Amino acid sequence: MYDTLVIGAGPAGMTAALYAARSNLKVGLLEQGAPGGQMNNTADIENYPGFDLISGPELSMKMFDPLEKLGVEHLYGIVTTIQDLGQSKLVKTMDGEFEAKTVILATGAKHRLLQVPGEDTYASRGVSYCAVCDGAFFRDQDLLVVGGGDSAVEEALFLTRFAKSVTIVHRRDQLRAQKLLQDRALANEKINFIWDSVVKEIKGNDVKVTSVDIENVKTGQVTNHAFAGVFIYIGLDPVSQMVADLQMTDDNGWIPTDDKMATKVPGIFAIGDVRQKDLRQITTAVGDGATAGISAYHYLTEHN
Ligand code: FAD
Ligand code: NAP
Repeated sequence: MYDTLVIGAGPAGMTAALYAARSNLKVGLLEQGAPGGQMNNTADIENYPGFDLISGPELSMKMFDPLEKLGVEHLYGIVTTIQDLGQSKLVKTMDGEFEAKTVILATGAKHRLLQVPGEDTYASRGVSYCAVCDGAFFRDQDLLVVGGGDSAVEEALFLTRFAKSVTIVHRRDQLRAQKLLQDRALANEKINFIWDSVVKEIKGNDVKVTSVDIENVKTGQVTNHAFAGVFIYIGLDPVSQMVADLQMTDDNGWIPTDDKMATKVPGIFAIGDVRQKDLRQITTAVGDGATAGISAYHYLTEHN
C-alpha cells in the first residue's frame, strides 16, 4: 500500500514524487516508458528557469536522478483503470495492480492525428510526430510541418538543422506560436509558409512519402507539392481514459481541479498537461506537481 502513487513520470509526476517523498510519504512512481514524458521529444528547452538552454532528455534525467535517493519506487506499468475504493484507490495495469491511499494523475497529453489519407500508410516512412527522433533521417531534403502552434514552429526551426527546406502549412494566416518563435521562423531563410491551407492527402511510393496534396481553404484549390517528410504538430489530446469511469473529466477529457490539484474524487489529484488549464508548459507542470505532492500529504494527515 503506497501513501501516494504518482502515475506518469513527466515533469509534473517527477516533481509530485519529489515533494511527496520529502514529506516522508511512501511514494511509487508508475510509468509506461522512459522518465521525462514529452520532454524526451524536445531537443532544446530555452524557457525553463535556471538554464539558458538544456536538452529535453538531460532535463529529464536531472529531474529523475534525485528521486531514488529519496526512496521513490520507480515502477513500470501501463495503467488501464483506476478504481475508487474510498479509503484507498486500486490502480490496474496491463500486468497487475497497485493499491494506494492517494493517487496523483500525471499522464500528460499525446499528439493529435491529422486523420487524412496516407497518414497511417506512411507512419514512420516519412510521416512523423517527433522531429528530435526522426529529423536527422531527412538530411538535405524538403520537409513539411503541419500546424501553427509552439510545437510546429519550434520543431520546424529544429528541422532546419538537417533539411534543405522546411515548409509550414497552417490553416489560418496567423501563427498561434509565441512571438519569439514566430519571429525566428519568419526570419529563417530555410522556412517557407503556406497559409490558409490544410493537408488533404499524403502520397508516396511503396517505400516512402513523395508528395502532399494541400488545399487552400479560402479558394478550395488543391495543389500537389513534393516533400520527403511530413511532421505533424496539430495539438494535443489528454491521456485520461483510465479515469473514464470516475467521471472526473470535462467533455474533451481534460481533468478540472481546484487550486490544491484535487479532482472531484477525494484522494485523487491531477497535474500537468492532463489538467484543464490554459498554459501547458514544463514550468506549469512542475508547479502543479509541487502543489499536489504537498496536497497529498495534507490529505493523508487529515484522513489518518
Ligand atoms: P507528459 O510530459 O506528457 O508526461 C506524461 C507521462 O505519463 C509520460 O511519460 C507517459 O509515458 C506517462 N503515461 C501516460 N499514460 C500512461 C499510462 N496509461 N500508464 C503509465 N504511464 C503513462 N514546454 C516547455 O515549457 N518548453 C519547451 O520548450 C517545450 N517544448 C515542447 C516541444 C514539443 C514537441 C512538445 C510536444 C511539448 C513541448 N513542451 C514544452 C510542453 C511540455 O513538454 C509539456 O507541457 C510537459 O511535458 C507536460 O508534462 P506532464 O508531466 O504533465 O506530461
Ligand atoms: P496547440 O498550441 O494546440 O497548437 C495546435 C496548432 O495546430 C494550432 O495552430 C492549430 O490551429 C493547428 N491545428 C489544430 N488542429 C488542426 C487540424 N486538424 N488541421 C490543421 N491544423 C490544426 O498545440 P502545440 O503547438 O502542440 O502546443 C501544445 C502545448 O505545448 C501548448 O501549451 C504549448 O504552449 C506547449 N509547448 C510549448 C513550447 C515552448 O514553450 N517552447 C513548445 C512546444 C509546445 P489554430 O491556431 O487555427 O487553432
